[in-house]
Amino acid sequence: MATTEKRSHDDAQLKTDDRDAAYTGYRRSTERNRVVGPDGHQLDPRTDLANHSPTGLEWGYGGSGPAQLALALLADHYADTVAFDHYQDFKNDVVAALDGDEWAIDIATVENYLDPAQIEDSTPTTEISGPHDEIINGEPTGETFYRCEGCGMESLSSGLKMNGCPRCD
Ligand SMILES: [Zn+2]
Repeated sequence: MATTEKRSHDDAQLKTDDRDAAYTGYRRSTERNRVVGPDGHQLDPRTDLANHSPTGLEWGYGGSGPAQLALALLADHYADTVAFDHYQDFKNDVVAALDGDEWAIDIATVENYLDPAQIEDSTPTTEISGPHDEIINGEPTGETFYRCEGCGMESLSSGLKMNGCPRCD
């Protein structure tokens, strides 16, 4: 085993020759940062689940771009509801620690992040309908909302769908 090679600063980061089993990120100055999954697919930022960063994915600190990347990475592997429940922790534990303009993390870092109890289905028990177009004065506003069928509470955030109704669930 080669012991003279210098490891990356963070244990989560790999040497770049392990990229076939990794997520890789590339910071770009003139266009959106690029993040690629293990089989070469471009990572979907999943702004449909939560839109922290319309301008793209970031890492190395704890802000909105890193929150979007954390959500995208977990949602690439876990059910949407599970990703939504845990991505802020994943941001703080993993994404904020990614260092530099290029990085690679082993898929095991994502696969092993949650234990089985955390992965169990967190689907809300209350039926949530939506999204529906919001109509004001007969005109769609471009916003969509979700409604709890139990109590009628409405929310513009997909968090109602992901987490269930705070009154009923
Ligand atoms: Zn409710």
